[in-house]
Amino acid sequence: MGDRHGVLVKALDVAIVGAGPAGLAAALFLHRAGHRVTIFERFDKPAPVGSGLILQPTGLTVLDALGLLDRIMALGARIDRLHGSDAGSGRTVLDVRYDAQRGDRFGLAVHRAALFGVLHRTVLDEAVPIVTGVDVEGLDVSSGGARIFGAGGVAVGTFDLVVDASGARSRLRHACLYPMEPKPLAYGAFWASLQWNGKGFAANALTQRYDRASVMIGVLPIGRPQPGAERMAAFFWSLKPDEADSVRSAGLDAWKARVAGLWPECSVYLDQIESFEQLTLARYGHHTLKVPAGRSLAVIGDAAHSTSPQLGQGANMALLDAAALAHAVNVSTTVEAALEFYATARRRHLRTFQALSYLFTPFYQSDSTVLPFLRDRLVATVARVPPAPQLLASMVAGTIVDPFRGTGLSEVAWRDRCYLSGN
Ligand SMILES: Cc1cc2nc3c(=O)[nH]c(=O)nc-3n(C[C@H](O)[C@H](O)[C@H](O)COP(=O)(O)OP(=O)(O)OC[C@H]3O[C@@H](n4cnc5c(N)ncnc54)[C@H](O)[C@@H]3O)c2cc1C
Repeated sequence: MGDRHGVLVKALDVAIVGAGPAGLAAALFLHRAGHRVTIFERFDKPAPVGSGLILQPTGLTVLDALGLLDRIMALGARIDRLHGSDAGSGRTVLDVRYDAQRGDRFGLAVHRAALFGVLHRTVLDEAVPIVTGVDVEGLDVSSGGARIFGAGGVAVGTFDLVVDASGARSRLRHACLYPMEPKPLAYGAFWASLQWNGKGFAANALTQRYDRASVMIGVLPIGRPQPGAERMAAFFWSLKPDEADSVRSAGLDAWKARVAGLWPECSVYLDQIESFEQLTLARYGHHTLKVPAGRSLAVIGDAAHSTSPQLGQGANMALLDAAALAHAVNVSTTVEAALEFYATARRRHLRTFQALSYLFTPFYQSDSTVLPFLRDRLVATVARVPPAPQLLASMVAGTIVDPFRGTGLSEVAWRDRCYLSGN
């Protein structure tokens, strides 16, 4: 890569496919660096998908680099602890505190609409074009430049660089070097966004209840979807997607009785659910592209790597990818060199977290009886002894290996900022 470091001689024509966190953040970075960026989104009106998520110090640092940290902090709910207990015995089976490590780190749980709204508003304010209603289906790099196609093979345009930010169901990643598709995971979840009710729930924690590893119920305060809105919570119930129909046909009351039987305090949330239509079924898959790039193609975010949300890193990885790609373009003399730089920069961090997520998920979401048995004993013993609490904290924070290497960023000095719970 060495002799190809420098500055590109021209501004690039860049197509970004997908207006999720990865695509919107990449668009802002590249547009601000002087490139001609167009975002293509399949929906007629770009909109967030899903309920809530936790922004880690990694993703928050990327948002800070975009000048958006204060805006997202004003909407989200500060998270200092992740705590889970066994529904039957009450034994603690998950306990991670950000302050187990130095650095004054924390997470920020947000409604997806808040993250989307902050990024999307900025994209609109900076007049980055978004073309909606374009479902990008194909890419051709055979004759100079990268041509993308929509439904029915209709040509969309030719670009110097195409950024595939189209999420876990990407149809462009087949054009990268070593393509692969996600492997479906056994467990998914029902998710709902409900009114926050702090009765029996900590305002600055993700709280979970488990029944072995086959049931996981979670409540996460997620702040406000937009300024002035009511505070909300993400509520989730893990289940096998194949079993969702039988749960639905047994009826809402039967399901509510099961949840309340395991966690009676949840009634304040269950009372807000009047139909299964309020519950979105999320399916999870797992894949990690060996090289998230191809000729004139960068693959970022869930298109490049998907996993279960057990470690809560997906959106943060997507934001880091966006920062790393833009930095790579800034410091390279050719698109080819930039793509190589980008893939190398993200490799170690990505592979580490994808492997950790793959390893840890079955301890919390699987049919195994052995793994939750081990989990319960380990959390009660080894996990309390240093350096385990520190390692767990850096795993959740996304910093167990340097996440900023090759991104051009360094972590926000949290202790210099006064971010108490904003709501
Ligand atoms: C239930 C659940 C909980 C989660 N919890 C967390 C958490 O706590 N913390 C965390 O960091 N992550 C979490 N994640 C993961 C996180 O949501 C994803 O990693 C993140 O949204 C990925 O962003 P992205 O921009 O890569 O893709 P997406 O958010 O999927 O966005 C892709 C965009 O591309 C568009 N698109 C798709 N195909 C095309 C096409 N062919 N043409 C044009 N546009 C297209 C889509 O409409 C969408 O707008 C969770 C995920 C789920 C499902």
